[in-house]
Amino acid sequence: MVYVISNNGQALMPTKRFGKVRRLLKEKKAKVIRRCPFTIKLLYETETCIVQDVVLGMDTGSKNIGVSCVANNEVLYQSQTTIRTDIKDNMDIRRKYRRNRRNRKTRYRKPRFLNRKNSTKLDRLPPSVRHKVKAHVDEIEFCKKILPISQIVLEISQFDPHLMKNPKLKFKKIKSWGYQRGFNYGFSSRKEAVLNRDSYTCQICGAKHTRLEVHHIVYRSKGGTDDEDNLITLCESCHKKIHTGEINVGLKAKKLRLKEATHMNIIRNQLLKTYPGAIETFGFVTKENRNNLNLPKDHYIDACVVAAAGKSFILNDEIFYKRRVSKGDYQLYKGSCSEIRLPIGKIQGFKKFDKVDYLGKTYFIKGRMSSGYAVLMDIFNKTIDFSDMPRGFKTPKLKNLKRVSARGSVLCIREKIG
Ligand SMILES: [Zn+2]
Ligand SMILES: [Zn+2]
Repeated sequence: MVYVISNNGQALMPTKRFGKVRRLLKEKKAKVIRRCPFTIKLLYETETCIVQDVVLGMDTGSKNIGVSCVANNEVLYQSQTTIRTDIKDNMDIRRKYRRNRRNRKTRYRKPRFLNRKNSTKLDRLPPSVRHKVKAHVDEIEFCKKILPISQIVLEISQFDPHLMKNPKLKFKKIKSWGYQRGFNYGFSSRKEAVLNRDSYTCQICGAKHTRLEVHHIVYRSKGGTDDEDNLITLCESCHKKIHTGEINVGLKAKKLRLKEATHMNIIRNQLLKTYPGAIETFGFVTKENRNNLNLPKDHYIDACVVAAAGKSFILNDEIFYKRRVSKGDYQLYKGSCSEIRLPIGKIQGFKKFDKVDYLGKTYFIKGRMSSGYAVLMDIFNKTIDFSDMPRGFKTPKLKNLKRVSARGSVLCIREKIG
């Protein structure tokens, strides 16, 4: 499939007439503006541009996004994007280094409080969530660039964290009053409520009538929350022993992650705000439709089902896999105070995440060595093993690589299905 844009930048219907495309390019009546997906721009005035109704379907998610564009029951474009999940960790590392540095080599600075511009910004989202929202919007905007999208259908799931915590709320009788009575109801604080739940007893040694403390099973520093399932009552000595590692009773917090649910709620709100005309559909509708059509479960298939509104459609055998990566490498040194500079510029003309051609196949650069070698990976961050190659080819050499496209924040590859 070749995607076509008119000379004033308007998206036209894609074509499969490769001979015509070749001729246009040869006669300089069109130019290539993108290789993946292959897009051309016409350089001459078109008299009539007839476009059909193209529906964009999206399967939203906090890790993967599936997108598909369908017209006349034919899939014109489908893609699956992996979103970044490393932002929070990277920021934690940065904060750790910053704290270390400031403790190490600066004069004493008065603690400052509430003086950050970010904290007063309206509608501010944390960077990790902002990226998730942006990845969805970017993908829709990209499709609008290459196809004449007339309708957007979003499969968004809305989560009710309160109901997830307490499934009994679905009963009508309990629902009427249950939402007002959470875990803390009747107590001055969560700590008080936890102590009461554990009937003022140390949950390890069973001590009563002593100083009791409330402990985070997964530490706050390790991402644990103030959720009641993560809190437990301990006596002072048991608490101390747990923190020093003297005793290990293998406490486990109940596995109920509400973070993803909250993120999905934010993504939903932001998308509906950005695209007020979009139609909303739900996961269970898609599931039912998918089962009726006898299709396997995958993000891009869900997107196709969403876009086709449950009607049968012709499957497309090519898909674009995408992965979001950071725009650049910002860590300049190895370790907090190291003298060893990390190479972030080009080595023999190559940067990290460049799309390259090696022995007739397309890969991405995962790592480069100043000695002239490279580590290659596929789009899913999986390192390619060349150890069964003949001598001299066991580690790819940079000089044998050919760059296909330079690093961007979206890695993209076209693949055949089946
Ligand atoms: Zn105890
Ligand atoms: Zn503790």
